[in-house]
Amino acid sequence: MIDLATRLAELDALGLRRRRRELESPQGAHVRVDGRDYLSFASNDYLGLAAHPAIAEAARAAAAEIGTGAGAAHLLTGHHALHHRLEQELAAFVGLPAALLFSTGYMANLGVVGALVDRHGAVFADKLNHASLVDAAQLSRAEHKRYRHNDLAHLEQLLRESTAKDKLIATDAVFSMDGDLAPVPELLELAEKYDAWLYVDDAHGFGVLGEHGRGVLEHFGLSSLVTGHPSLVYLATLGKAAGVSGAFVAGSADLVDWLVNKARTYIYTTATPPMLAAAVSASLKLIAGEPERRRQLAHLIARLKEGVAALPWPLMASGTPIQPLLVGDNHEALRLADGLRERGILCPAIRPPTVPEGSARLRISLSAGHAEADIDRLLAALGELA
Ligand SMILES: *Cc1c(COP(=O)(O)O)cnc(C)c1O
Repeated sequence: MIDLATRLAELDALGLRRRRRELESPQGAHVRVDGRDYLSFASNDYLGLAAHPAIAEAARAAAAEIGTGAGAAHLLTGHHALHHRLEQELAAFVGLPAALLFSTGYMANLGVVGALVDRHGAVFADKLNHASLVDAAQLSRAEHKRYRHNDLAHLEQLLRESTAKDKLIATDAVFSMDGDLAPVPELLELAEKYDAWLYVDDAHGFGVLGEHGRGVLEHFGLSSLVTGHPSLVYLATLGKAAGVSGAFVAGSADLVDWLVNKARTYIYTTATPPMLAAAVSASLKLIAGEPERRRQLAHLIARLKEGVAALPWPLMASGTPIQPLLVGDNHEALRLADGLRERGILCPAIRPPTVPEGSARLRISLSAGHAEADIDRLLAALGELA
């Protein structure tokens, strides 16, 4: 049996012990944490919807009418009309024939990959993919081939060499620690050339990318083509820009039917409270109906880039709300994060092994809930620390 106290002390000694802080306010650009007020650049609430009153009201109204618990898995009696309607809304929104709700993005990734490849198959994964996709590949027992970040030539070489029966290419659409995009159209071409699935995890793009916030497919102009791309499997999560909880997978009607029958993390778990489906429906209306949230984000990104030009550290190449400030040295990144915190600003230092050695960074995460003055305050604080 492992000695937990000793192992925890080891983590402490390495500066790697993680602790949780208590959020004592709604999530947002301005938060109260452990008894102190902060300006926060540390959430994934990109559109500022996590505490939107219309979404909370939709959840409240649904709870008042139908209560809280789904009471059963989707294949028993847990599949509520609210879930069903939301699936149709989500499919229409992203321009795909059908969609299926999962309780979280993590569960969706585990379930979908396992339903599409088994130990006779192979998963081809970008090296910077989210941890849930790494776990999904391992749990599927398929061969796990990782290609260099966004390196299409490396991916093609691995696909060409593979003799696996079923192949699946898995990629984040927006990479969570870098903020850059996967070349989805080119990946789709490769998938079709090598008869592979393309699984695109748009956790950070849904709601944010594209004129209407439909995500990475809209960004690349792929939505309307989709019926012609049966190999495309799209995943988005609903706890980041959408401000609620959960995830959905979208693709062909046959894909959704297959997942209903085979995705273990869909089948063997209780459906999420249907009031959350009502909340997501309300959120979708705001995502589609308030493009000014995306315009505000674009404006803030531009202002941040302009201001950082005067600082000693560069921003990484990203056009998304994830704007990593590349510091390099681990201690220096920590010093900046600590210095910001002393000045009432939350912005996490991301260090190896989460990112490659020598590329420690501040992960600045912007939200439509930020004002221009918030960006200026961050820039001024960084200027003091430079
Ligand atoms: C956050 C995230 C997930 C997990 O989604 P949850 O709904 O939070 O479980 C999956 N993939 C990526 C790329 C993510 O950033």
